[in-house]
This record gives sequence, C-alpha cells and structure tokens, in this order.
Amino acid sequence: MPDFKTVYDRRSDFQASAPGRVNLMGDHTDYNGGYVLPTVIPQRTRAELALRADRTVRVWSDDVEDRQIETYELGTEARQGAWIDYVQGVTHLLGQERHPLTGFDLALDSTVPLGAGLSSSASLLVAMFRVLREALGLTLADADIARLAHRAETDFVGAPVGVMDQMVCALGMTGRALFIDTASLRYEHIPLPAAAGWIVIHSGVNHSHATGSYRQRREECEEASRLLGVPHLRELEGEPRQRALARMESLPEPLGRRARHVVTENDRVLAGVQCFEARDTEKFGQLMYASHESLRRDYEVSTDEIDVLVDLARAEPDVYGARLTGGGFGGSVVVAARADTASRIAPRIARAYRQRCGRVPTVLLPKNVDTNVNATA
Ligand code: ADP
Ligand code: MG
Repeated sequence: MPDFKTVYDRRSDFQASAPGRVNLMGDHTDYNGGYVLPTVIPQRTRAELALRADRTVRVWSDDVEDRQIETYELGTEARQGAWIDYVQGVTHLLGQERHPLTGFDLALDSTVPLGAGLSSSASLLVAMFRVLREALGLTLADADIARLAHRAETDFVGAPVGVMDQMVCALGMTGRALFIDTASLRYEHIPLPAAAGWIVIHSGVNHSHATGSYRQRREECEEASRLLGVPHLRELEGEPRQRALARMESLPEPLGRRARHVVTENDRVLAGVQCFEARDTEKFGQLMYASHESLRRDYEVSTDEIDVLVDLARAEPDVYGARLTGGGFGGSVVVAARADTASRIAPRIARAYRQRCGRVPTVLLPKNVDTNVNATA
C-alpha cells in the first residue's frame, strides 16, 4: 500500500494487526449457542495510526474501490451501510464504554480477501481495537476486544453474525484450532494434527454478511427454536437425539432441515475435537464431507462453484476431506490433505476449477504455492 506518509503527509506512531480465520468445523452454529472449531490464517489486516489533537477521525483503506480519505467526528457515528461503519462501530462502542478517545488518522490494509468467508470483517475490527489500545493506553484484554468487536459488528454495523469470528481473530493461535462453546464463551486451544496440510481456496465469488440471506437463515433458526419450544437450537442437545430429529421433521419446510443442520453440525464439532486429540485425520476428513453435505442440502448455503471445488478436492487421492467454510453464498473451501502433498494439490484444484467454472480462484493456504492458475497441469 502507499505508505501512511503518502496518504496523510505525516508519520504513523502505532501499528497493530489481526489475522483472518478459516473455520474447520461448525458453520452457522455460533448464533444458535453451539460449538465451533476455527483456526487463524497467515493473512492479516494491518492498522497504522497517528493521534490527532482534535476529535476528527480520518480513515483510509487500501482494500476498497473508492480509495479516498473518509472523515467523521467522534460522537457523531451513524450507520451508512458502507465499509466505514466497521471503523465507526469501534469508536462508537469505545465511547459508549467511556474509554477516553481523541481523534486519529488511520490507514488499513489487509491480505485477507474481503467477503471470502475468511473473516476480513472481524480481522479489521480486532486490528483496530488493538491499535487504539496501543495508542490510547486502553485497559482491554484480547478477550474483551473479541466481545466489543462482536457488539460493533452486530449492533452498529448491523450484520447479524455470531461470536466465532471475533473470538478467533482475537484469541486464535497458529497451529492450533480454537474450540469455542458459544453459549458459555468457554474456549480451548487444540493442537492441529501434524499429518494434515490445510488448503484454503477462495472461489472468487464474494458474499456480504451485512445483508440478505445470512439474516434469513438466522431468522429461520429463531422460528424453528420457537416452534420446538427451546431458547436456542443448542438446547436440543439435552434431548434424546432420535426424539429431537423426529420433532424437527414435523416442522414446516425448510425449518426442519435448518434445525437438523445445526444439531448435527454441533455433533460434528465435538467429534472433530476428539479426532484432533486422537490424531485421526482420516476421520476428521469424513466429518468435513458430512458437514459440507449438510450445509449444501439442509442449510442451502453452498453454491455451484463451491460444490465444484469440494468435488475436485474429493477426486484427489491424498485428500482427507473438504467443505465450505464460513457463512457460504460464495466464499471459500477448506481442504484437509496430506501435509507433504498439500502444496502440489492446491494449485491443481485451482487450475481445474478455473477451467470448469471460468472464475479466478485464490489459493490462501498453503501460503506461497504456485498460484499461476493459467499454467497447464
Ligand atoms: P468476511 O468477513 O467473510 O470477509 P463480511 O461481509 O463479514 O465478509 O465483511 C466484509 C466487509 O468488511 C467488506 O465488505 C468491508 O465493508 C469490510 N472490510 C473488511 N476488511 C476491510 C478493509 N481492509 N478495508 C475496508 N473495509 C473492510
Ligand atoms: Mg465477516
């Protein structure tokens, strides 16, 4: 990116960053009080900042089309339905929590692709809270930042997302999955099996969580919970599974299928944790395929492009499993492959995908693989 000095004609005093994430198991469970199992990716959002003596905020992002400096005054934050809302949400919440604020110049740049299901939004929020913590000496632990970032995204931006993304972007560790129980917010770092090489490929089809279909899925889950007489679908955990599944089947279409995805996906997260503990990557791979089927058929959040990526992965002998990752309606897939062959498999899948779908994929993991998808296999 052009450096801070080029944009603002002054130097930055503070820098911070936060990673994106890939969810390995447990999608659309977090707003149902359920379990999730994400990990961080090497791609990050970086925030650079210089304090000002007034209450003006100036923001510039290298990752949006309309590259210009956005400006607002602290205390006048108002939702605009644009990317600047993520920044305004942070200062709005810090103001609400009575943290002492002054104006600042901020530059953002990210290697997490936007709207790719890899949580550029939470990565941006966490990076911003961190750089302000640094600059203003705020007393905030990373766990506090996760909770504030979640409120900024849901209450201010108006994206009805669960708490997984903010927690893993703030608390996740390389080489470990972060198991989260989103009802209690209890979390645990679980070492990833060394046998698995993780592949992440963005389909080139973007989504936005601040709008449409994601919200509709959330409402369907709320309606299913109401009809089943539980506060959250997670509460069905205590019921004998056959009985719960039978009750779900009696719900009007498509609510029964939506609920079935959530309940079975929670089971798969718990089983997935056991696989990691037992170093059973083969079994984890089977859970990934089952999760993808559930997201595709019951939850209906996959797309033709994502299904092609999963099928191409499945055709590779050294692949254990593959699934859509993140909220869906476009976005990315995650593949578990043999650790020693992942960097050969990933570009092969990407090239075949481009030929089949005519879209330009991006290989995010393994990092630095040959992504020349134009080359012939
Ligand atoms: P995801 O989190 O999966 O990437 P979301 O729809 O939740 O997708 O968030 C993407 C939105 O977050 C973007 O459309 C933009 O408004 C905002 N955003 C994320 N990263 C940046 C960035 N580096 N600069 C400006 N806006 C960003
Ligand atoms: Mg997001």
